[in-house]
Amino acid sequence: MPHPTVSIADLSRHLDQTVSLQGWVEALRSSGKVAFLLLRDGTGSCQCVIEARTEPAFTAVAGLHQEGSLRLTGRARPDDRAPGGVEIAVETIEVVQSAEGYPIARKAHGVDFLLQHRHLWLRSARQTAIARIRHTVISAIRGYFDDLGFTLVDTPILAPGAAEGAGTLFTVDYFGEPVYLAQTGQLYLEAAAQALGKVYCFGPTFRAEKSKTRRHLAEFWMVEPEVAWADLPDLEALAEGLICRVVERVLGGHRADLDRLGRDPAPLEAIRAPFPRVTYTEAVEILRSPETRATLEAEQARDLAAVEALRKEIAGLDSQLGQATKAWKQEKLGQEIQAAQERLRELEMAVENRPGHMEDAAAFAWGRDLGGDEETILSRRFDRPLVITRYPKAAKAFYMKSDPENPRVALNLDILAPEGYGEIVGGSVREDDLAALEARMAEEGMDPAPYQWYLDLRRYGSVPHGGFGLGVERTVAWICGLRHIRETIAFPRFMGRLYP
Ligand code: ATP
Ligand code: MN
Repeated sequence: MPHPTVSIADLSRHLDQTVSLQGWVEALRSSGKVAFLLLRDGTGSCQCVIEARTEPAFTAVAGLHQEGSLRLTGRARPDDRAPGGVEIAVETIEVVQSAEGYPIARKAHGVDFLLQHRHLWLRSARQTAIARIRHTVISAIRGYFDDLGFTLVDTPILAPGAAEGAGTLFTVDYFGEPVYLAQTGQLYLEAAAQALGKVYCFGPTFRAEKSKTRRHLAEFWMVEPEVAWADLPDLEALAEGLICRVVERVLGGHRADLDRLGRDPAPLEAIRAPFPRVTYTEAVEILRSPETRATLEAEQARDLAAVEALRKEIAGLDSQLGQATKAWKQEKLGQEIQAAQERLRELEMAVENRPGHMEDAAAFAWGRDLGGDEETILSRRFDRPLVITRYPKAAKAFYMKSDPENPRVALNLDILAPEGYGEIVGGSVREDDLAALEARMAEEGMDPAPYQWYLDLRRYGSVPHGGFGLGVERTVAWICGLRHIRETIAFPRFMGRLYP
């Protein structure tokens, strides 16, 4: 009778049984007497030991290379030193494909090389950890809205017009007519909210962002709730609850993945309601304040010291490399030098840009939209996500309702993730008055003809309502502690990247 095929994650339930595993070679080393094969099957990794006397398995394993695929049988035995506490004493091996010359070696590669080999890079321990966390982020989002009685409504991806600004649209040929890939489902969701009350859409979103930043992709996933009868505090609470739920689920199920990413969980454990709330006007005061200047000066001093230390470290590693004779030692030192140089470049850039950021922050003019640099400064000042409300109306989209107490500002909110990550949520109360909306559209020079259906929502049973969008990739980047959002999605799309 064949042995049961089990997954590595379940191995501890099969101790002292003979089982079959199937997977790929994560690492392989061999002395003349014994071979150690680290097998990866997507659920985990497991050490498999092949003794020289176990033939033909011992000969078969010699024909395998990194990422070779195989099936094996062996006895699962407890071993304190093995990752997961179980190791396999191999009895038979069936090589499925030997995988000679896998391009991603276990040494350091530059990010361009890795992106060009993204289809293979996805297999690495780091990338699979990110993929699993992303999965949990998405399922936590859906669970949150489903538990609150929201109905999922899918909105069109082919859209006739721009909701957020025409500069960032991708054009598609729609039976001979130019249309655009959707930047948001919001306008359609407003219609659905009047039908169902509480709704959300969750889909791909397209923006032709021409700048290469750490937080912009051309294709990303966004969840957008829209709620009839909601006012601004309702939206703040809804978003706050969502972020708390997502962080809680990741902490609850992904300690090992966070650890693999080198992500300190402590800042995530601090994410609890209530989040700090400031108005845009208060945020501008914070930017211009002496405390912000002092914080930035302290950051500059710290980074300058770190630059000094890194340069010394690199010089030390360089001289060790000059004396190293063993190939493995040279390779190890080479990797360390490369990693240190990458950190050095980043720090040097931060040091170079900071004086400009300090000047911009000190002179920040009321009325400007907060940009990435300002968001970074603000979100570093708090250890929880920061809710910023009431931006200048003129900087915001036509559909946002103005504050009845101060018509110069909109009833909107952005939420900035802490640790410098910046905006992950943007939303608002929508203008529900027909005349006010028409006036605003006229001011913006918009043709009302294509928006008649949207204006109908104000003609027939208009109610106060609002919603927001939360970007999945930025949320995952923050939770995983990644510098760049390109690693948060399996096949990232951004300017200059379309392969694979
Ligand atoms: P930003 O000003 O940071 O470019 P935005 O204000 O244009 O973003 P919104 O229209 O408010 O973004 O979109 C809602 C959310 O979608 C943002 O808070 C963010 O999480 C996400 N998002 C927006 N643009 C991008 C992008 N290009 N790549 C990844 N996520 C994005
Ligand atoms: Mn926004």
